[in-house]
Amino acid sequence: MLFSEVLAPEEVKSQLRRAVSSGRVSHAQLFYGMEGCHTLGLALAYAQYINCPDRTETDSCGVCPSCVQFQQLAHPDLHCYFPHSAGKDSSSYTYYTEWRSLIQETKGLFSLHDWYQRIGMENKQGMLNKEDMDLLLPQTALKAYEAEYKVFILWMVEKLNPQIAPKLLKTLEEPDGKTLFLLITENHDQVLNTIVSRSQLVKVRRFNTQELAEILQKEKHCEPSAALRIAATVENNLIEALHYENQAEDKLQWFSAFQEMMRYAYALYHPVKVFDFSQALQWVSRMESFGREGQKQFLRYALVMVRKCVMQNIPLERLAPTSPSENEWISKFKVFIREDNISPFYTLLNTAVKQVEANANTKMLFTDLLFSLGKHLKK
Ligand SMILES: [Zn+2]
Repeated sequence: MLFSEVLAPEEVKSQLRRAVSSGRVSHAQLFYGMEGCHTLGLALAYAQYINCPDRTETDSCGVCPSCVQFQQLAHPDLHCYFPHSAGKDSSSYTYYTEWRSLIQETKGLFSLHDWYQRIGMENKQGMLNKEDMDLLLPQTALKAYEAEYKVFILWMVEKLNPQIAPKLLKTLEEPDGKTLFLLITENHDQVLNTIVSRSQLVKVRRFNTQELAEILQKEKHCEPSAALRIAATVENNLIEALHYENQAEDKLQWFSAFQEMMRYAYALYHPVKVFDFSQALQWVSRMESFGREGQKQFLRYALVMVRKCVMQNIPLERLAPTSPSENEWISKFKVFIREDNISPFYTLLNTAVKQVEANANTKMLFTDLLFSLGKHLKK
C-alpha cells in the first residue's frame, strides 16, 4: 500500500518516514488508534516503504518488484498475524485468503467486527494463539529472503493469548538482524505491559470533524453540510462514516432495542407499571441474536444515547447530534438520567461490554443488566 492511499493524519505518516530517512527505525512499534483509525493501512504502507529501493521522500514507488509483492500481500518477508477462532490447528494462515481479500477490498480499513463477520465467527471471540507463535518464531530466526527488513504485523495484539506472550517477548527484545515488528491495537490498556514496555508507541489519532467531513466530500461526494453532520454523528469514526448508509439499518435496530431495554428496566421497580417478564425475555433473546460483536456495538450505542441525554440536560445537545426520532425520544427520557445515576449507567454498560468480550452467558448478562438499570432508573 502507498502512504497516499492511507487515510491517516499527515503528521503520523511524516513521523514514520522521518524514522526511515534518519535510520532510526525501532524494531518493535506499537501502532495505537481507536476503531476507525487506518492503523493497518499505515503499517502496510510503512512495511512497503521501508523495503522499496526506489522510495522517494514521501512514498514508495509502487511499481518495483518489492512494492508489487507488498501490494498483493504476497511478499515472502511480510508476515501477518491476527485474531481468529481459537480451535486447535487453526492459525492465522488458515484464514490468509480471507485476510488478503478483505484488505484488498477495503485497503485495510475495516473493524474487528468486519473481520469476524468475514470469517463467520460473530458469536465468538478470536485470539492469536499458540499455533501462531509456533509459525512466527521460526520465521523470525530465518534471514530475509529478498527484503531489507522482515516485517511481522500483529493486528489486534491485545488478543494475544497471554500464556504464549513470553515467547514473543524474547524475540521482541532480541530480534535477529533487520526484523520489524509492527504491532497494532485499538485498546492500548489491554495490551500486556511487557509488550508495551518493549515497543515504541506510534499513536494514531482520529480525524477531527472538519477533516473527516472533507474526506467524506472527496470519497463519498457528500455535500459539505451532510458531511459535517455524518462526521459528528459517528463521533469521527472513519469506518462508520464511510459506511454510514449501510449502518442506518443497524442504528434503527439498536435504537428500538435501547428503547425496549429502558422501558423494561423502568417498569421493573415502578409502583404502578406492570413488568412483562415474557417480553423482557424476548428482548434478551433479541440480544442473543445480535451476536457478540453486535452486542458490543449495541452497548456502545447505549452509552452514546445515555451521554446524549446528559448533554440535553445540561444542555449541550448541539455537541451530540441525534436523528429526529432519537431526539424526540430523548427529550422525554432525559429526565430519568440524573446526576445520581449517570455514573452507575456508564459503569453498568461499560462492564457489560467487557463481559461480552469475556464470553459471559448472554441470557444472564442481559437479564442482570435489565435489573441493575431498573434499580438506578427508580426515582
Ligand atoms: Zn518500490
